[in-house]
Amino acid sequence: MSELYKLTLTEAAAKLQAREISASDMVGDCLARIEATEPDIHACLTVMGEEARAEAKALDEKGPDPAKPLWGVPVALKDLFCTKGVKTTAASKMLENFTPTYDAQVVTKLREAGAVIVAKTNLDEFAMGASTGFSAFGPSRNPWNTDKVPGGSSGGAAASVAAYQTPGGFGTDTGGSIRQPASLCGCVGLKPTYGRISRYGVMAFASSLDQPGPMARRVIDCARLLKAVAGPDARDNTASLHPVDDYDAVLPMKVKGMRLGLPKELWEANIDPELDGPLKAALAKLEEAGAELRPITIPNLKYSVATYYILACAEGSTNMARFDGVRYGHRTKDPRDLTELYVASRSEALGPEVRRRILLGTFALSSGYYDAYYKKAARVRRLIRDDYFKALEDCDFLLTPITSVPAWDFSKEHDPLTAYQLDLMTLPVNLAGLPGLSLPVGRGVKEGMPVGIQLVGRHFGESALFSAGLSFEEMFPPLL
Ligand code: GLN
Repeated sequence: MSELYKLTLTEAAAKLQAREISASDMVGDCLARIEATEPDIHACLTVMGEEARAEAKALDEKGPDPAKPLWGVPVALKDLFCTKGVKTTAASKMLENFTPTYDAQVVTKLREAGAVIVAKTNLDEFAMGASTGFSAFGPSRNPWNTDKVPGGSSGGAAASVAAYQTPGGFGTDTGGSIRQPASLCGCVGLKPTYGRISRYGVMAFASSLDQPGPMARRVIDCARLLKAVAGPDARDNTASLHPVDDYDAVLPMKVKGMRLGLPKELWEANIDPELDGPLKAALAKLEEAGAELRPITIPNLKYSVATYYILACAEGSTNMARFDGVRYGHRTKDPRDLTELYVASRSEALGPEVRRRILLGTFALSSGYYDAYYKKAARVRRLIRDDYFKALEDCDFLLTPITSVPAWDFSKEHDPLTAYQLDLMTLPVNLAGLPGLSLPVGRGVKEGMPVGIQLVGRHFGESALFSAGLSFEEMFPPLL
């Protein structure tokens, strides 16, 4: 059978279980697709060809197993997940030669479910950014138009799925890094509730916000991926004990009567006409189908970008302190003393955005400023969270755009402040700890780039989100 790489994750999993195709065929076809598309897309930092082929062969020798729902399914992982014996770089020169001695919990769980990891994908250095432009190893390109960014920071994973290299993958989302690239590449992406998936072995950016999550070409594929990895973990006490539902067993929710809260602050923002048309058309279609569109307000939303960037930079700067040239990663040559060892190692190996955030974060935490910045931001965060929880009391979901601009040209990267502002639609959801599902609803009017929409659910409301996502998918056909 040819062109196995075109199968969705659910289709592939079913054919693999039924022995219609072997794990080696499936993995081999995706690896060939990676080889064919990588020169244009550069989604991957490491392709695990040899390991993946060997794993597939071992799976084939034992045969399919219904207890392993992802048996033989190839997946891509953002290069922020530690993989034992396989280089894990965080797209940083600091970790250019770093090979972990253990697997992240997501990796362990995926393997237990029978998945085969085929590639480690590109990202903005340490997940700080929104285009993969801050990768130390060059940006990834958007499969829809290679002059354009795939978004970020999990841009490599989104590009890999959109280029049909892999049927699904995992990214991480601190302020939008799964949902935004998924939408710019026309995929489905979920940022689960904070704590839904263990972060053991995931390199930390902002620990109170970080959450891994799935990306794929269909809603149900994301549900399967989530089910495989969600749940508690003794090695990450932020991983919740909340029961893991049968996310992949959900049915489409009735659109008629669905109460969708539309935050005025986001819908009235300055949205690029390229997106505005398809987004408004989507709202009209939902209304026609009987959804109740309720304009709502999130009073403290206007503080969310400032709040996020104080918290994320502060936490990021402390998490980056471990990269000191002593324990891990790059070490400068012949330092004169310990101070020079630290300063030179970090200056040589960390890129401009990571350095900027270390400076901002260290300042926000420095004595005399802690109360004015970090502590205040932590309090405002609580207000934003309360706003979201309150809004969700009277609505089933909140519905918002993902970004105010479509995928942009490489030649038009934004200055830092503009880039930060562009996270307005996604980052409040991280501040509130809520789950957010990013879905394609159409394509831009002139340039035809994918347009996504975001459904925000209640705390641990992933099943409901998938269920609503399935009915959205019936109304807005998948782009891939
Ligand atoms: N773009 C946001 C930032 O730069 C989000 C990044 C993320 O979610 N990892 O912080």
